[in-house]
Amino acid sequence: MPEIADSHLLIVDDEPMNREVLLRHLRNSGYLNTTAVDSGQSCLDIVKSQPIDLILLDMMMPMMNGLEVLQHLKAHPEWRVIPVIVISALTEKEMMLSCIQVGAEDFLTKPYDRVLLRARVSACLEKKNLHDREVLNKQKLEAAYKELALAYYELEIVKNELEALSHRDGLTGIANRRYFDTVLEREWKATSREKTYLSLILFDIDYFKKYNDTYGHLAGDDCLCQVADASAQVVKRPRDTLARYGGEEFAVILPDTNAIGATICAERIRMAIEELQIDHIASEAHAHVTASLGISTLKPCDEITSFQRLIKEADLALYQAKSDGKNCVKMWEGVT
Ligand code: GH3
Ligand code: MG
Ligand code: MG
Repeated sequence: MPEIADSHLLIVDDEPMNREVLLRHLRNSGYLNTTAVDSGQSCLDIVKSQPIDLILLDMMMPMMNGLEVLQHLKAHPEWRVIPVIVISALTEKEMMLSCIQVGAEDFLTKPYDRVLLRARVSACLEKKNLHDREVLNKQKLEAAYKELALAYYELEIVKNELEALSHRDGLTGIANRRYFDTVLEREWKATSREKTYLSLILFDIDYFKKYNDTYGHLAGDDCLCQVADASAQVVKRPRDTLARYGGEEFAVILPDTNAIGATICAERIRMAIEELQIDHIASEAHAHVTASLGISTLKPCDEITSFQRLIKEADLALYQAKSDGKNCVKMWEGVT
């Protein structure tokens, strides 16, 4: 922000003598950066090309008089803030009134008093300086707001990414146990409201301890990833959730799915794992890696108060599948 003494003043007067005298007065008063032009058009040309802080405008000029120049300036969104001191003879009262209506900042009558001139110029420049500072502060504030909004936006993205990561299982990339618990509780409430079925599949890789013992822990990890990927291909509905439930145990939450639908889904998962054809010479169930699956289907209602029952029944069905020779699907049909 320039100092007031550095302000750029513009004198507009067609009389060379008037220009000369006014220029000298202003320069003597310390306003060294003062320019003088002889016509309204030259005034508009200068205003177009450089910032001006104050215009001292003569009224009576050929071609374009002071009032017309003022009208041009005040109609422009940027130039309208430049203060204009109108200089005229006392006899031009009508025109002076019009100038004040159009927006002249102040006026001086010829012959003007030098002390008055200095006071009016100084007051106008103070006001202009204050206005410029306000504009600058507003711009700075707006830029700061924009930066803040951008920072919030970026923070939100990072937060969402972190949250998504906290839902994932580090090895397989599917949902982890914590997220499974959240989704099951949420879907239990939702299906209770919707009065539809909620199914849960729990499945467990057969003879996985032997797989690790035979092929090593790293191969075991790779096998878990392949099983997760193959199962994810089967579990496709947007509301379904496949999760790693424990070491080599997986779970599938199937909202709005009855026992028949859940059985079809479980059977598809069983086949998808078998079709991976991962060698497992130590398995007593098959030549390849297989899994056993247990299903429970419930209609959440007032009598059944907790989703824990769904987990318990699916677990019992899984136990039955293991007891029945593994690599099969069992639906819980008993009484809990
Ligand atoms: P079953 O057929 O009855 O399910 O027997 P199983 O051997 O699969 O089951 P068990 O519970 O006896 O053993 C599970 C094995 O899974 C033991 C453990 O080392 C292995 N396991 C658990 N988590 C991981 C893992 O993240 N990576 C690997 N490689 N192995 C795991
Ligand atoms: Mg197990
Ligand atoms: Mg197992």
